[in-house]
Amino acid sequence: MASRLIVIGGVAAGMSAAAKARRTDRDLEIIAYEKGSFISYAACGMPYWLAGDIPDHEKLIVRSPEQMRKQGIQVQVRHEVTAIEADTRTVTVKDLENENTFTQGYDRLVLGTGARPAWPPLGSTGLPGVFGLRSLESGLALQQFIRENSPQKAVIVGGGYIAIEMAETFRRLGLDATMMVRSGKILRSTLDDDMRELVEAELARYGVRVITGTLTSLEGDDQVVAAASAHERVPCDLVLMGMGARPNVELAKAAGATLGPTGAIATDAYMRTNLPDVYAAGDCCEVLNLVTGKPAYIPLGSTANKQGRVAGENAAGGQARFGSVVGTMVVRCFNLVVASTGLTAARASAAGFKVQETMVRAKDISHYFPGASDIHVKLVVDGSRDRLLGGQIVGSRGVAKRIDVLATALYNRMSITELRQLDLSYAPPFAPVWDPILVAANVAAKE
Ligand code: FAD
Repeated sequence: MASRLIVIGGVAAGMSAAAKARRTDRDLEIIAYEKGSFISYAACGMPYWLAGDIPDHEKLIVRSPEQMRKQGIQVQVRHEVTAIEADTRTVTVKDLENENTFTQGYDRLVLGTGARPAWPPLGSTGLPGVFGLRSLESGLALQQFIRENSPQKAVIVGGGYIAIEMAETFRRLGLDATMMVRSGKILRSTLDDDMRELVEAELARYGVRVITGTLTSLEGDDQVVAAASAHERVPCDLVLMGMGARPNVELAKAAGATLGPTGAIATDAYMRTNLPDVYAAGDCCEVLNLVTGKPAYIPLGSTANKQGRVAGENAAGGQARFGSVVGTMVVRCFNLVVASTGLTAARASAAGFKVQETMVRAKDISHYFPGASDIHVKLVVDGSRDRLLGGQIVGSRGVAKRIDVLATALYNRMSITELRQLDLSYAPPFAPVWDPILVAANVAAKE
């Protein structure tokens, strides 16, 4: 009899795992359970779809359950796995359509249960007009609310990259937008203060107000009318919780899976948990940060897809490995592109490195070429060992390609001496003869 693989979760990690397992072992029986109504969609595209760049949410869906079935993967949507019994290798599943509960045995199991938006411990967060943005269902609910209620003022609680993307979306939809940020620092873990100022100025230029404060109450009876911190009450008719993501680990924890220091599921490089033949991938897991050598929680779609693939291959008998991450991100903020990789100077100092910071402003393409504009590059270097620890780039063009150069340099533990010697592409419409990365590396080498 063929072995059976059960996958829990139907988005990036779960569906990557199922598809790779199918390609690795043609005979494997594969069943995936997803408690929501949609599978295999690009959550990352939702801010742009909500803004109207992408006309239809269906465009975000990569594969339907029917298409997965044609590949020999049975996908059961609206089915929630409520328990895992590792000793008997069974899962308990609840069919959310009819409330029926049944058990299903497995030989291998992949956990791709993902994450959920962080939610403040307030009683009033269930008020109409208060949203989180995670699943496609949550995106559809937000879109429906905007269409039916034409809100005028949005408060975005939090200052991470999704909060910034949604501030832009709300402004483009004609709403006032206020970001309420506990520390007052947007992109706190990915930007240093000097680079953050550039992004704050862009938000201000486009009418987004950033206020410092912890959300203490949401006011309203049958609809949210204000969000308040200890210092300020902001009238609004729409609130978006953008306070980051928390890993969905309760199911795994109850089954005996070990959680790491970050609170997410701990795995080895083969994406194995401590439970026999149980793998985990994506936003429910922690990762190894290559720069610090320590576990970190950096939930990103890029990582979820890779980890899912490794978990799926191994669950089907393979020996693939997932290495580590350097924490590379890029986000659009109106006319700026903001990117970061590795450690900020603040985080590098906190991690015990002797930090040297270099920030340069250069032109993104040859200065005489029409449209040349400023690009800011910051390098964070281990002052005692000449090793690159991180980089941040803010500009309007060529930011993503350059942060990927720095991410590659970090991955290869390059020194500043080596970074200076990189043979980067040059032609006037694309880059100056001295690429801003090389300019920054040259300055860092002299400091
Ligand atoms: P999830 O997407 O959370 O999926 C987990 C699934 O498991 C869910 O559908 C859930 O319903 C299901 N599930 C959970 N528990 C159970 C259970 N017990 N039984 C059955 N099903 C269960 N990342 C980037 O790299 N770049 C970006 O630009 C980017 N932009 C983003 C923008 C937005 C608005 C959002 C919300 C996310 C963005 N991300 C981005 C993050 C990216 O979407 C996630 O990292 C990725 O979706 C993680 O995939 P996952 O499969 O691990 O988890």
